[in-house]
Amino acid sequence: MTTTRSEALFDYAQQYIPGGVNSPVRAFKSVGGTPRFIAGALGARIIDVDGKSYIDYVGSWGPMILGHQDTDVFIAMQKQLGIGLSYGAPTELEIEMAELLCNRVPGMEQVRMCNSGTEATMSAIRLARGFTGRDKLIKFEGCYHGHADALLVKAGSGALTFGVPTSPGVPADVARHTLTATYNDLASVAQLFNANRDGVACLIVEPVAGNMNCVPPAPGFLQGLRDLCTQHGAVLIFDEVMTGFRVGIRGASGLYDVTPDLTTLGKIIGGGMPVGAFGGRKDIMQKLSPAGPVYQAGTLSGNPLAMAAGLATLRKLDNVMLYAQLEASTTQLLDGLKAAAKDAGVAFTTTQVGSMFGLYFGEGPIRGLADVMKCDANRFKVFFHAMLDRGVYLAPSAFEAGFVGAKHGEAEITATINAAREAFALCKA
Ligand code: PMP
Repeated sequence: MTTTRSEALFDYAQQYIPGGVNSPVRAFKSVGGTPRFIAGALGARIIDVDGKSYIDYVGSWGPMILGHQDTDVFIAMQKQLGIGLSYGAPTELEIEMAELLCNRVPGMEQVRMCNSGTEATMSAIRLARGFTGRDKLIKFEGCYHGHADALLVKAGSGALTFGVPTSPGVPADVARHTLTATYNDLASVAQLFNANRDGVACLIVEPVAGNMNCVPPAPGFLQGLRDLCTQHGAVLIFDEVMTGFRVGIRGASGLYDVTPDLTTLGKIIGGGMPVGAFGGRKDIMQKLSPAGPVYQAGTLSGNPLAMAAGLATLRKLDNVMLYAQLEASTTQLLDGLKAAAKDAGVAFTTTQVGSMFGLYFGEGPIRGLADVMKCDANRFKVFFHAMLDRGVYLAPSAFEAGFVGAKHGEAEITATINAAREAFALCKA
């Protein structure tokens, strides 16, 4: 298979862009080989600059739930393109977006738009600190909430992939306010609260952890966090940047029936455009500038093109049948992969929440980072490349969740399972 043009572009890119990419995991550093430079995408497929097409399970790391180039999103953006790209003044589209989010997301009474998931979590934490007058925050080892200083402590995603979960450049004075607990272990959280009485401003959690592969919450875990935060007067933040509108129309808080004080969103709500949002209890949101004293702002926040793409996407997702179909396709895919691995005699397990999934070269159960770290990273690498060669594009890291989209039909699922049969055979060798 030729990758000539991707290789040439990767060399060229490295002259001008650190590591050749604008976000680290894209560089294929942990799996080796040349990242595919993408020329275009349609439906469930992306096409690289060497003309090879792949079934895409990354979906731009989550946003492309409707598939690439959805007609309604395209038309909505085209309409906006004709009347202006950015005004830096309020628009009606922003109210439509805010109202829609508040009508769908449990506990969301008010919401502020921003431009990325990182901005959303960073701002939600500042707001929680301003609201409570406290400094400490609790996060979980292996969870990723974007790259703000306070959150790059024992982080997941690329930080975990490259072995620097706590980044150089984060001042010790900042990091000391970040306390880390163990995912799915309520006792570790209770201990931090008890050791820091009246000091914890907020607890932030991915309600389904998607940045240390895909780890679902244990029964009672999220409710336990809710109870501890209420008991200690801390703000509970669900980081639903990945899970919002992915695991269901009401996100993970709807799925598990636990309502946080604040929710952060991103990815899907922008329909592929750069968008983030944070919102929740009105008494907390009212502390935000200009209503209140906690400052937060953005030149391009609520950008009309982004609102148009996001609204077109969210309106189309208002369809329970679509979520049922996505979940069924994902189950079919994972059942097929497990059967293929079993036939090949390869130890392999999967996790799934709706259309979000995790693949593991090891035995389950997968309850947290310690279980994820026990899996065979080398087998993942071999599998990843074997699948890529066979036209299946998985996340180039063993620490990222995968996504099935609305355009992954029977043909794509079957082709993926067939490719995996050959790939698992290679893993065994
Ligand atoms: N929170 C979570 C749960 C995420 O998965 C991500 C990105 N993968 C972020 C925050 C950061 O979002 P962004 O990359 O848009 O800054």
